[in-house]
Amino acid sequence: MANGTVLAVGIDGACWSLVDNWIDEGELPNLREIRDNGTWGELESCVPPVTCPAWKCYSTSQNPGELGVFWWESLDIASKESFTPSSRSFSHPELWDILNDAGVTTGVVGMPLTYPPKEVDGFMISGGPGAPDHDFTYPEDVEDELKSKFDYTPRPTFPADSEGDNEEEFAEKSIEQVDLDFKVAKHLYEKYDVDFLQVCSFEINAPLQHQFYDGEPTKKAWKIIDNHLGDLADEFEYVVIHSDHGTSEMDQQFFINSWLAQEGYLTRDRSFFERLADYGITRDRLLGVLDTLRLREPLSNVQTLRNLGRRIPDSRGLFGEREGSAIFDKVLWGETDAVGLAQGPLYLNTDKLNEQEYETTRNKLVEEIESIVDEKRDAPPIQQVFKKEEVYHGEYMDKAPDLVALDAPEYHNKGGIGKKELFRKSDWRGNNARQGLHVISGPGVDSARVDAEIYDVAPTILSLFDLDPPSNLDGTPVLD
Ligand SMILES: [Zn+2]
Repeated sequence: MANGTVLAVGIDGACWSLVDNWIDEGELPNLREIRDNGTWGELESCVPPVTCPAWKCYSTSQNPGELGVFWWESLDIASKESFTPSSRSFSHPELWDILNDAGVTTGVVGMPLTYPPKEVDGFMISGGPGAPDHDFTYPEDVEDELKSKFDYTPRPTFPADSEGDNEEEFAEKSIEQVDLDFKVAKHLYEKYDVDFLQVCSFEINAPLQHQFYDGEPTKKAWKIIDNHLGDLADEFEYVVIHSDHGTSEMDQQFFINSWLAQEGYLTRDRSFFERLADYGITRDRLLGVLDTLRLREPLSNVQTLRNLGRRIPDSRGLFGEREGSAIFDKVLWGETDAVGLAQGPLYLNTDKLNEQEYETTRNKLVEEIESIVDEKRDAPPIQQVFKKEEVYHGEYMDKAPDLVALDAPEYHNKGGIGKKELFRKSDWRGNNARQGLHVISGPGVDSARVDAEIYDVAPTILSLFDLDPPSNLDGTPVLD
């Protein structure tokens, strides 16, 4: 019985190369049936293909140059500051805002970058990194209900040590979260009877696909998603399944700032603390000592630990991966042309380089970074380097990274600063990739293969409601 009109299932890091075998083996019968009856294909993500801002590229149909958010963190070379976005950093109307304006009720569960939740005509449950275990629902009183009925929070509480002995518990908790997100979505759908339901799974990718790639825990979680798909699909006229980006099998980490330092593009200050590391005094050992002395608790406010992360390298000799402030602390700007963040964004030092030097350096970096080879494996760590104007357009081009280096499938650019080697064997098995997936199924939808872009999904959903997409969107409906 179909009451609702569109069910959208957003699966972080979903792609055909990961699930095709399971579909062929009959492990995901509902996904198979929906795909066989629908229009489906690859879904190209933004660059770099990363959860932030990819989920917002989906929900707003705007590219990062228009959103002003390019990754988990942004550097401002002029002010020497780094910024970490939250849902408040995004001001464009989202799919649900446009639907609500047209009188369509909406429910959203578990989408990354939706904390704090905003007022919608329906409900919104925050999800993904940065969603805490309180104040995560709109309407507010839904939170108590979800906690008492499902013991629900937007993210699982993981054991302190995510590796070794705890790996099994770590996987179990992630799988349980995948299941809970759908259970909560179904419960709220039944209660509010919305026209559009969006349910997202973040844990399927982080940690499951990152840590296990196509291993048993990932397969188990996908089978749970498939069961829920079978259960929910009949309630809706149309079903849309989509990713924020895809996943590839990963083997190595690559440290872009170490390469920039090696080639003379980046010079850093080797501080007193860093020289301590030469004598084996690292952040991990220091934290161990603090534990022994029972000093960690009184010191454990976030700022203290962040400062520690910036000033003292960990046992791998690395300063924080997602800590642009570490870059601003460590880099000697008078002798530096470029710095990089993890997964691709590269910023040129416009304080030092004049206009002509900027262009020459940018061209040289594109050519040289695309030519890097990991000699041990005879493979390039970076598959392509884009100039910002090749991949972004819009209001915030002046805030965009000058270049974006796209990871080669088996390499994860770790960013960070302070590492001596360029490469290291990766602990994780799955990396983000640009090609994800999408499926649209329902009355009048042809069975056909059509590849699309992440910007096309929201306009497609609007078209399923017979609504004309606003003219300023970056995508167009996939269906005729
Ligand atoms: Zn993601």
